[in-house]
Amino acid sequence: MSLDVDAVIVGAGFAGMYMLHRLRQKGFKARVFESGTGVGGTWYWNRYPGARCDVESVQYSYQFSPELEQEWEWTERYATQAEILRYANHVADRFDLRRDITFETKVTKAAFDEASNTWRVETDRGDAVTARFVITAMGCLSSPNTPKIAGLEDFAGPTYHTGNWPHEGVDFSGRTVGVIGTGSSAIQSIPIIASQARHLTVFQRTANYTIPAHNRPLDPDHVRQVKANYAELRRRARSKPAGIDFTINQASAIETPEEERRRIYEERWSYGGLGFMAAFSDLQLNDDSNRTAADFVRAKIREVVKDPELVDKLTPRNSFGCKRLCVDTGYWETFNRPNVTLVDVSDEPIERVTSTGLRARGEDYVFDCLVLATGFDAMTGALLKVDIRGRDGQSLRDKWQEGPKSYLGLTMAGFPNLFTITGPGSPSVLTNMLPSLEQHVEWIADCLEHMRDRGATVIEADGNAEEAWVAHVRDVAGYSLRSACSSWYVGANIPGKPRVFMPYIGGFPAYIERCDAIVRNGYEGFALSS
Ligand code: FAD
Ligand code: NAP
Repeated sequence: MSLDVDAVIVGAGFAGMYMLHRLRQKGFKARVFESGTGVGGTWYWNRYPGARCDVESVQYSYQFSPELEQEWEWTERYATQAEILRYANHVADRFDLRRDITFETKVTKAAFDEASNTWRVETDRGDAVTARFVITAMGCLSSPNTPKIAGLEDFAGPTYHTGNWPHEGVDFSGRTVGVIGTGSSAIQSIPIIASQARHLTVFQRTANYTIPAHNRPLDPDHVRQVKANYAELRRRARSKPAGIDFTINQASAIETPEEERRRIYEERWSYGGLGFMAAFSDLQLNDDSNRTAADFVRAKIREVVKDPELVDKLTPRNSFGCKRLCVDTGYWETFNRPNVTLVDVSDEPIERVTSTGLRARGEDYVFDCLVLATGFDAMTGALLKVDIRGRDGQSLRDKWQEGPKSYLGLTMAGFPNLFTITGPGSPSVLTNMLPSLEQHVEWIADCLEHMRDRGATVIEADGNAEEAWVAHVRDVAGYSLRSACSSWYVGANIPGKPRVFMPYIGGFPAYIERCDAIVRNGYEGFALSS
């Protein structure tokens, strides 16, 4: 069978774009398929009001090109979706990526042919491409979750999902709106929707913790300083468990005297953002320590929200940071507005959507438009939508029936020459995803180059190495309080999804070291053949 390209890359978000660039640099021929009409992935699809990153932009950006780092100017501490999308488009133009990307084309099937050791990739447009390698760059949070609420199709007004927002935007002025969900997307969009809408009703199943963003325009002097020392900033970030350069306080929360503890929390609160998680080293390891952070944030809700009944509803009961921590601008303040109502559906699921709104707790709520801020079938959703078949025609769906299994979150036994960027079993969503996906891209590109240099055409993870990695991912997750709550990290938001803590929580530096050691040891845990 003749080869059309060396590699098919699925997805043109930040991962797929850089993968294409890196492979080209090494002299490989690649074709990218992207279901959207443009690049940017997350930032192409999630155009809801208030969407922005919550890792500071100077860090939530590529580091593979020092020239790109120097020439791009971020304008805000946390850039808006529009600005990040402009950046993605700038990267596509700067590195001339579009000529190898086929847009508006979804990969539907990928099958490994054992006779020729090649993959045949099919799309919804009838393409059939033969490639030595398939590299998925399909995103961890790219398969929107539409909850199975009875009557959803009966609603007469428009329904919007935050993860697939209309490109022309939505003007909520003078309209009545219902929002389902109180995760990060809801917490970012609710204050803005409330400021436009005539009335907003928020349906909350689980109250969430959020930390103020204190977003602001970036001071040009600060940016100059960052740019002058970018390599050092990136090096420090790489040495931190989340791949983000914030100061980690090594002290235990519970062993720190109360007054000092409060001072530290206040300091982190005033600074804002995800660095709050690093206020103490044991917030995810020790229940008592965790409770101190939870209590601190709960007290903040009481300070902000005026109505005690609302305070009670908005107060999270689960452990702090066990669901993905949110970062907001004026979220709790929004509930003091006279045009906002909160409906707690924690103990009684929403009964049904009706033609005019929805029915919950025995009451009918009427609105003009409905917003589903209901998240994603995370980490495995996009991958399992494609019919992926490895050796003996085994499907990935079968292999992952009891939860995802991989070696390093990058490769799978039985699926030779298939790589999954930020796949389950890698640090991915527990880190700043830009450096994480860059590390995967570089590891994969180096691997392909190594194979070419030694005449190898097939690489496959060894079943035992995979089992050992899966066990390691599970074991380290067991130490963290995060594995114990019903979050999308464990698939709890999707009915019937196996409960497995999917990302690797051992930290970015430990993960990089493991990946590098495997290479140093001659691709330990892999079989390479010609
Ligand atoms: P994506 O950006 O998800 O891109 C995947 C692409 O693959 C998509 O364009 C999709 O259309 C395409 N695709 C999928 N399946 C197919 C198929 N079968 N055929 C063809 N194309 C396909 N991370 C952070 O680190 N910091 C943040 O501040 C942050 N903020 C976020 C905010 C939001 C609203 C969301 C949803 C996520 C956020 N994330 C954040 C995570 C974010 O997903 C990653 O940072 C990053 O953008 C992922 O890039 P990616 O290229 O791996 O995947
Ligand atoms: P999410 O965190 O999964 O939140 C979904 C929300 O919808 C939850 O409140 C969930 O309740 C609720 N929900 C789902 N089904 C429901 C149902 N049937 N009835 C009632 N409520 C229902 O999704 P997300 O907010 O889109 O965020 C996903 C991830 O994307 C984030 O965790 C983060 O990693 C990333 N993100 C980042 C940012 C940022 O600030 N940069 C912004 C958006 C997203 P339960 O909690 O009870 O399940």
